Amino acid sequence: MPKSLASALRVTVLYGVFAALWIVFSDKALEVLITDVNIMTLAQTIKGWLFVIITSGLLFLLVSSAFSTIESLHQMDILTGLMRHFAFQQALDKVLQQRHENQVLVVMYLDFCGFSKLNHRLGFDQADKVLVSFSGRLRQLYNADVLIGRLGPDKFAVAHLVERAGDHVEQATNQLRQTFDTNARANQLELKCAMGVAIEPSDGRTAKLLMSAASSALNKAKLEQSDIQFFNKDLSQQESERQALVHELRLALKNESLSLVYQPQYDLSTQTLTGVEVLIRWQHARLGFVPPDQFIELAEENNLCDKISAFVIKRAHQELTDMGLLESLIPRVSVNISAVEFNSTDLMKKLMVQIERVPGLANKMQIEITETAALDDINKSARIIEQLKQKGIRFSVDDFGTGYTSLVILRDLPIDEVKIDRSFISCLSDDKKSQAIVQAIITMSQGFDMTVVAEGVETEQQQDMLYDLGCDEAQGYYLAMPMEIHKLAATLR
Ligand code: C2E
Ligand code: CA
Ligand code: CA
Repeated sequence: MPKSLASALRVTVLYGVFAALWIVFSDKALEVLITDVNIMTLAQTIKGWLFVIITSGLLFLLVSSAFSTIESLHQMDILTGLMRHFAFQQALDKVLQQRHENQVLVVMYLDFCGFSKLNHRLGFDQADKVLVSFSGRLRQLYNADVLIGRLGPDKFAVAHLVERAGDHVEQATNQLRQTFDTNARANQLELKCAMGVAIEPSDGRTAKLLMSAASSALNKAKLEQSDIQFFNKDLSQQESERQALVHELRLALKNESLSLVYQPQYDLSTQTLTGVEVLIRWQHARLGFVPPDQFIELAEENNLCDKISAFVIKRAHQELTDMGLLESLIPRVSVNISAVEFNSTDLMKKLMVQIERVPGLANKMQIEITETAALDDINKSARIIEQLKQKGIRFSVDDFGTGYTSLVILRDLPIDEVKIDRSFISCLSDDKKSQAIVQAIITMSQGFDMTVVAEGVETEQQQDMLYDLGCDEAQGYYLAMPMEIHKLAATLR
């Protein structure tokens, strides 16, 4: 008799026995317990319903277990007990949700080279044993967090979360290859494999994309007869370094291990101090000095701008107060904020909260926003600046002249200061066009009652020319380098 028929017969007999016992014993029990005819009729009805409920429950358990067996047969590979394609993809999506930012997910595809020849030579049973022993070794090697699948007759997949920094990706691929080699030796076979590797997030952020990346890397490895191919090795490495840097920046912000320097600005006619610009510094343990342009961009892409500004405001206030510079010695403190921050109402609200926390600094504070910051919506910008000004905060447009909106900015934004970009200053001495532009900026800005500051002044000649052109203030290496707080205190005194 076929197995399926025997199982069905077994279940039916079990059911028949249960039903017969129920009828016989429940009727007997009622006869003993109940004498009243009316109550007996009611009890019979309840008993009938009870029977229906219990048998429905049993039927449900039976059917659902049968379905889940069918489903798992579809999802699991019968020979090795490993996940098949769909189950692997689903599990991979789950793992992706659990990934920490300091980890990367390595998806490795491994394909036996010349497996069909092996099948012919050894016979199917023997070749199957090789596959089974390989999958057994994979199970031994990895803990439960690592996904293992058999996606084709001789194609296996492993998805492994590893630490981002260091050479963990390489370790993971080596480990898989060594397991393959050990298994081949144990089976006394000379076998080779090809591997394709994809890495999340650089090669894709969903299971589907990663699996297709690993698959195309594997195809490339097979085509080029190489042991291993990364979907995009350079990109993967770059991305992992970038992500490592973001992680470290987060930590640096949390531990407040960034620092500040201050660059003085001077009045060109009196040579007196008009203010300082606060510039952030990151001395990285491994990479050394990381330029702010570089990590500000990372911060913008990773929603860290508000944290940077919060740090700068808090630290500047603390250092300037500790050194006793804030009350009388420094008339104005300029702080840079990122374009992303300026264009977000939420982030600007957060910034205001930070500023209001330090009233001593707030009344001397000026915010610098770069002109190329694509002042998305000029009316909205005007409203934000108005609100800031009501709180006594001044507003400056940095890198002026480099964007396309210079004239509109002058006309429509209620700003206090214009900083002429250093590209115009550096060629001031020998370029007549730059002279004309600088002259025009100065005339226009002063016409709107705005202060004009020239940035990047590196020579005496540039300083003198700016003075002759009527520029109000200057800032640059010739006048003073950006310096840490103790040096600033010493310089000012
Ligand atoms: P920026 O606002 O235009 O800052 C002026 C930059 O010019 C500073 O570079 C400063 O060190 C440099 N500099 C000053 N004088 C001279 C000079 O005479 N010649 C030359 N060639 N350069 C001079 P730094 O500190 O590397 O900052 C680069 C940019 O990073 C800044 O440009 C600003 O956009 C951004 N940044 C710096 N600190 C912060 C910050 O706290 N928050 C935000 N959001 N951005 C910041
Ligand atoms: Ca600036
Ligand atoms: Ca600038």
